[in-house]
Amino acid sequence: MLLEEIPVRQVKGVGASKEEELHAFGIHTVADLLDYFPFRYEDYRLRSLKEIKDGDKATVQGTIRGNPMLQRYGRNKSRLTSKIEVDGMLITAVWFNRPFLKDQIVPGRDIVLTGKWEQSRLQMTVSESEFADRETRSAKSGTLQPVYSVGGSITQTWIRKTIRQALEQYGALIRELLPEEIVERRRLIPRREAVERLHLPGDTSAGAAARRRMAYEELFLFQLKLQAYRSLNRDRADGVAHPIEAETIRKFAATLPFELTEAQKKVINEIVYDMRQPYAMNRLLQGDVGSGKTVVAAIALVGAVKAGRQGALMVPTEILAEQHYRSLQKLFAGTGIEVGLLTGSLPERKRREVLAGLQMGMIDVVVGTHALIQDEVFFRSLGLVVTDEQHRFGVNQRSVLRRKGLNPDVLTMTATPIPRTLAITAFGDMDVSTLRERPHGRLPIKTYWVKHSAMDRVYGFIRKEVSEGRQAYVICPLIEESDKLDVQNAIDVHVQIQQAFPDLKVGLLHGRLGAAEKEAVMGSFGANESQVLVATTVVEVGVDVPNATLIVIMDAERFGLSQLHQLRGRVGRGAYQSYCVLVADPKSEAGRERMNVMTETDDGFEVARRDLDLRGPGDFFGTKQSGVPEFKVADMVADYELLEQAREDAADLTGREDFWSSPAYEGVRAVLGKDHILQGEQLD
Ligand code: ADP
Ligand code: MG
Repeated sequence: MLLEEIPVRQVKGVGASKEEELHAFGIHTVADLLDYFPFRYEDYRLRSLKEIKDGDKATVQGTIRGNPMLQRYGRNKSRLTSKIEVDGMLITAVWFNRPFLKDQIVPGRDIVLTGKWEQSRLQMTVSESEFADRETRSAKSGTLQPVYSVGGSITQTWIRKTIRQALEQYGALIRELLPEEIVERRRLIPRREAVERLHLPGDTSAGAAARRRMAYEELFLFQLKLQAYRSLNRDRADGVAHPIEAETIRKFAATLPFELTEAQKKVINEIVYDMRQPYAMNRLLQGDVGSGKTVVAAIALVGAVKAGRQGALMVPTEILAEQHYRSLQKLFAGTGIEVGLLTGSLPERKRREVLAGLQMGMIDVVVGTHALIQDEVFFRSLGLVVTDEQHRFGVNQRSVLRRKGLNPDVLTMTATPIPRTLAITAFGDMDVSTLRERPHGRLPIKTYWVKHSAMDRVYGFIRKEVSEGRQAYVICPLIEESDKLDVQNAIDVHVQIQQAFPDLKVGLLHGRLGAAEKEAVMGSFGANESQVLVATTVVEVGVDVPNATLIVIMDAERFGLSQLHQLRGRVGRGAYQSYCVLVADPKSEAGRERMNVMTETDDGFEVARRDLDLRGPGDFFGTKQSGVPEFKVADMVADYELLEQAREDAADLTGREDFWSSPAYEGVRAVLGKDHILQGEQLD
């Protein structure tokens, strides 16, 4: 008999109306009921007075030592007090509005009190009490009591009782679900024991082992689905198998002005491996700002082109498109790879030229904004799309391409350095490559936080860097809901800075400039014709001027941590010591804490972790990634290591020859089988 097949009605005490209410909670079968775990516990475990802090709610056991005193006041109000000896101390117990207890308070009788402890008056205001000598003593005192999410006619007491009953009737039928080898490797307690302990923790704190076991199971099954889904996707050999020679990559890498880092080599291997396979790659390249993602993308593009296909690089803004266009042209010089640029502001004639070049295959790699892969753009043979997180490839884009008869490999780059396991979970349908290490010889960026009143010193700093031949950014924040005010603010700051440095050329960059103006401003800063660049957050992503060593962020308290980190990443891109100065007078504690985090670390993973602590995961992922699953027991952040283990185990298992056949995996296969994803649905 399977618990999944026994209607919850079979549990004693569950009648027709209760059954219906349980359905509303998603509880249909006994299995559902037993998997309905408490979300917290009330602690009725006996404690000694010494360990109870003033104001705490706690449970103690003692002996009644005085005659009770009852005062009545108001209409129905009363106050009952009695002296109780607890741990050799006499304390006062106070009951409000329970006059009927008076007759039971008999000196010499043992009693268990739960209530709020007031240290200074040696007094406990009792919320619950029971006599220790009672036959009918409830199972409560001395234990942890589970607290379930309840409502309607389903009360806490009723559900506790009903689940206890279900365990009595059917507990023996709880089967192990996880493969034995995993239970052993991860030292998990058996499923039955875990379920029982979560519902009936008794007085033990062994609840932790039970919690861990169930959290692991949830995470593992979740990962198993992802991996199984992916392995099925891989079996669909309808992508592009790029025949990439190792020699091609090696030759190109040798033309770079620097040695690739080990981290870069590793992710390039992962990417090239995928690209050679006949399935469509869907890979996330994750790396902190400045970790060198662009060159990795460039190498993947070389691979695609040398394998006879075309590549596209999609970026969020025209500034970036132009910058990447220029840097790819430089990188690909002498390789024979033809690079094109396609943006909205191209003159019509030029635009038609590029479109024709793509269709006829004269252009090998095209850089542009989102419109690149849509509308009237046709490729002769698109093999690889590199995009960034903001343009995470969705089902729609893929189907647009498929309609054009293309199913290219996709590489998504993200500079939001979220811890790896969280990335895997949030982007569960993707493979993940991580650049953990920054190029050699990079000095950590030094970050300082100053008040507005110290602007003179900040000017002095700018002067010093510029006099040493370096350059500086000054960033003005976005003022909420007013693009116009932002621009005005940036214009004002630009005037101030230019006045402070009459001998320097100070550039100004903001969102309202036309494409040609933007290009001119960036070009002049890139060539060190202007030494200081005042900008709004338009420089946030991707801008690469290695000679810039100082970034001053005005009103830094207005930015979130990850944005501050992105901005800071505009410096520290060359061999020079770089600095970030946050100008801020934060009013809130959280604002001060953000400034402190920035000054304490320049590691994006650490920043993300601290951000997560400050904000909680829901907010961290925002609505954009609402695909982040909800777990009953597990907590993606707190159980982060467990998630990583679960992921490893799931990958290992789904990779085995006998996974789909061996009886050892029947339990987990049954779980997968219920999932619609695996029943022939489109796997986009
Ligand atoms: P990201 O896109 O990850 O923020 P970039 O790809 O723009 O970083 O690289 C940052 C800077 O580091 C660029 O100027 C790039 O040329 C340089 N760079 C990349 N890889 C290396 C390397 N292995 N050694 C030295 N410099 C590198
Ligand atoms: Mg491929």
